[in-house]
Amino acid sequence: MDIKKVEKLLSELNLPNFRLKQIVKNYFSGKYKKFEEMTDLPLDLRKELDDKVGLLAVAEIEIKKGEDCEKTVLKLKDGKKIETVLMNYGEWISACLSTQVGCAMGCKFCATGKMGLKRNLEAEEIVDQLLYWNNKVQPQYVGRIVFMGMGEPFANWENVWRAIEIIHDNLDIGWRKMSISTVGIIEKIYEFADLGVEINLAVSLHATDQKTREKLMPVAKENNLDELRKAFEYYCQKTRRQLFFEYALIDGINDSIAEARRLSRFIKSNKLFYLNIIKLNPTDGAFWSSNREREADFLRELDRARVLYSVRKSFGREIKAACGQLVVRYKDE
Ligand code: SAH
Ligand code: SF4
Repeated sequence: MDIKKVEKLLSELNLPNFRLKQIVKNYFSGKYKKFEEMTDLPLDLRKELDDKVGLLAVAEIEIKKGEDCEKTVLKLKDGKKIETVLMNYGEWISACLSTQVGCAMGCKFCATGKMGLKRNLEAEEIVDQLLYWNNKVQPQYVGRIVFMGMGEPFANWENVWRAIEIIHDNLDIGWRKMSISTVGIIEKIYEFADLGVEINLAVSLHATDQKTREKLMPVAKENNLDELRKAFEYYCQKTRRQLFFEYALIDGINDSIAEARRLSRFIKSNKLFYLNIIKLNPTDGAFWSSNREREADFLRELDRARVLYSVRKSFGREIKAACGQLVVRYKDE
């Protein structure tokens, strides 16, 4: 919701200040989809607010339900579309939020990367993905958020940070219940470390040598692995927090025994480094896949080296909601 617009409208209508407080409280409660439903407001005002402001900056246009996961295509006010995902872990519910319409980073294994960047999301459009989900899961609430949807959070950091502050200040989600995943942008890792907030940081590593990383992720060229490593060390030293690394196993590209050994050495080089192995999710037209046997050998080598790692549960493959599968087609624009 654009609070400034609401404020302006209220002052034009000469309405008292408590109305704003009431509206803001209702907005963050997640109980409403439209102002129309806020029966504690005068009917005329509700109509005016729906016509002139609109409660959420996102509108549902398509829902897909999977086993323990849901995905929605949301329409933004300029007609652009994004996807947003909900994951049900049983004990808690997580929302996977998008930060951009598309992504400029062009990782070769990612459907979002193939779209290119259409535009950055505004802070309100990020916050409202969460409020959209809170409304869906009532009377429950989303307890954790991950910035792992469409887009690179550090490439739209100003808006993402503003959204994080709004969420932190108004909803019951603490810093440690938030995670950011980055493709690995050196200067932003330093900036983030200096911020000193206890938000989890994950880096999409996918290879421990420069050449393979460049092959998979074009931005690796300007974000050289040697320099990146210095940023990782700085982050851990400064924050004393764990740093998570994501590594998707890709058949014949990064899943050899030699690579498992190199990855083990890298993870063990700092006791705050933690490894998440991801299964490669299929994307349209992708020429890469994962290989079960090689995967098993790779994991065995990690075990032998006594590396601390998890194999991340993959949510929502059946509805194309898993990592790297989020995409919106634009033929209908
Ligand atoms: N732009 C950020 C966050 C969004 S992508 C980033 O790249 O980190 C979220 C995660 O999905 C990243 O770790 C990314 O490397 C991973 N990913 C992308 N495509 C994938 C695929 N096809 N299979 C598995 N993981 C993928
Ligand atoms: Fe962008 Fe992340 Fe996909 Fe790479 S993996 S293209 S950074 S969304």
